[in-house]
This record gives sequence, structure tokens and C-alpha cells, in this order.
Amino acid sequence: MADKQEEKLRQLAKELFLNEYPNPERKGCPDSQTIRAIAFGKLRGEQASEWRTHFATCSPCTREYAGFRQEFQRVKRLQALGAIAAAVVLAVMAGWLALGKFGFAGRIIAASQSRSERARGLSRGWGTKGGAA
Ligand SMILES: [Zn+2]
Repeated sequence: MADKQEEKLRQLAKELFLNEYPNPERKGCPDSQTIRAIAFGKLRGEQASEWRTHFATCSPCTREYAGFRQEFQRVKRLQALGAIAAAVVLAVMAGWLALGKFGFAGRIIAASQSRSERARGLSRGWGTKGGAA
């Protein structure tokens, strides 16, 4: 319950802040591209922190920055989903390889692992599996 109240207060503070520093002429504001670069973490260092200081006293910039931040988080979520999908594909492929190749051939590899030229050839299969990770 206390959490919800705190959340409400924070929301209120945020809304107050967003209207507390109106800057309709956008005096001294960076352009949208700069704000976007900062939100996406592409602009770092002193320059970025200078702009961040500006955001703290400029409602329009803060609003824009918050918007880009949301976009950034969406992109990151999509990328994470993509990574998960790729991992699933790899897992399926590894499973398929394990069934198709190592199910039977794996026993041969195990049997001849340390001696023949053939084992070296087959071990490339293992290498692919390991390298995928
Ligand atoms: Zn500004």
C-alpha cells in the first residue's frame, strides 16, 4: 500500500516537473538527434552529462528524452527477443545434430577419438557445436 502511495507521489512529482520548466522557444536546447543519441547511449562523456544537466532544468527536453528512452527500451526488448529466438534455433539445431549425428556417429567418435585421422574429421562436428555457443 505504501508502495502505491509512493508511486503516486513520484508520478505527481514527475508531472509537476514536466511542466515546471517550460521552454517553448527551446532556448539552449540540443536538437532531437542529440537527445536521441543520449537516450540511446550513443553520446557519452562530458558532453552527454552537460546535456543531462540541461534536461534537469528543461521540461520539453526531459519529455523528449523520456520518449526516446522508451523507444530505446522497446528496441532493446526486441533485440533480447531476437537473441532468445536465435538461442532456441541453435538449441533445436544442436538437438538435431545430436540426434542425427552423435546418436550413432557419436559412439564411433568416442570409440576412435584418440587414434585415427577420421576422428579428427569428425571432431570438426564437435567444434561446430562448441563454437555456436
Ligand atoms: Zn531543453
